[in-house]
Amino acid sequence: MRPTGKLHLGHLVGALQNWEKLQSVYDCFYFVADWHALTSNYADTGDIVENALDNVADWIGAGLDPEKSVFFVQSMVPEHAELYLLLQMVTPIPWLERVPTYKEQMEQLAEKDLSSIGFLGYPLLQTADVVIYGAHWVPVGEDQVPHLELSREVVRRFNNFYFPVPEGAPPRGLVEPQALLTPVPRLPGLDNRKMSKSYQNTIDLSDDAATVKAKVRQMYTDPKRVRADIPGTVEGNPVFTYHDAFNPDVAEVDDLKARYRAGKVGDVEVKTKLASAVNAMLDPIRERRAAALARPGYLREVLVEGSKRARLIALETMEQVRAAIKLKY
Ligand code: ADP
Repeated sequence: MRPTGKLHLGHLVGALQNWEKLQSVYDCFYFVADWHALTSNYADTGDIVENALDNVADWIGAGLDPEKSVFFVQSMVPEHAELYLLLQMVTPIPWLERVPTYKEQMEQLAEKDLSSIGFLGYPLLQTADVVIYGAHWVPVGEDQVPHLELSREVVRRFNNFYFPVPEGAPPRGLVEPQALLTPVPRLPGLDNRKMSKSYQNTIDLSDDAATVKAKVRQMYTDPKRVRADIPGTVEGNPVFTYHDAFNPDVAEVDDLKARYRAGKVGDVEVKTKLASAVNAMLDPIRERRAAALARPGYLREVLVEGSKRARLIALETMEQVRAAIKLKY
């Protein structure tokens, strides 16, 4: 995850809840992708470390556990950069230029000059991030699938040069990573566009109860309901999407939907109940987050210790890679 701002409910349902489940099934590595934050935010780096620590507090809040999973910082394992450089030697530039997110992001972030090598190389740095741990699976959304296809192509090309396998012998060299696609809901924001920090339509995991209440009160609902007695539409209405996602009281949600459709409930009641449900869901996250933040130096220590553990594995991979490239002195 890139430390580019506060984490919100979209990150919770789209990533963190899934990551939390994976930690009891796999050896998981979760990292603060601080160099990746630089690929688009190179002009303004002052907040990266603060965001990183705040994001990790949110991970712990969401139930990720540094005892079960390795939490590390990309720039604290500089071998990622070494492998990235070596992968560059065998990667044709057109392979990177045709990655769909490359052109899309250039267009979306037109106010930034993204004509850098760093931005073009983003998916190749991701490749290094993954293969340096011999990772078999990467939990990602659909939009990242082409990045993993690129990773596999690059790994195959790299292995062809440096880890040739005689006919019939078992494969060796870098591991080809696969996408672990978990269908996740795309959570709408307060304005019914995708929840995203760039739209300023988020409910953040660190928002207090009063802030959540105020934000829910401004949420987009059915615009044709200018009065409470006009029948409303539930489908595609973010207030009800949220009720379905965050309110465990199914009877209450069904009753609100029925009365909304019949024009027998005011928005104030629907939203007040929603704010209570979201706050109840966030309370344990807030508690774990606050406890982690209250321990002086704890989050830095988690990242330093985790980065040491990650680095041991990264160094081992790089030993093999340097030997394969015959750069051993
Ligand atoms: P980046 O770190 O590239 O800027 P984002 O902050 O947009 O990415 O998202 C990080 C992760 O959170 C991604 O896995 C993405 O799928 C997930 N995510 C972000 N926003 C939402 C949302 N509104 N609904 C569901 N998942 C989301």
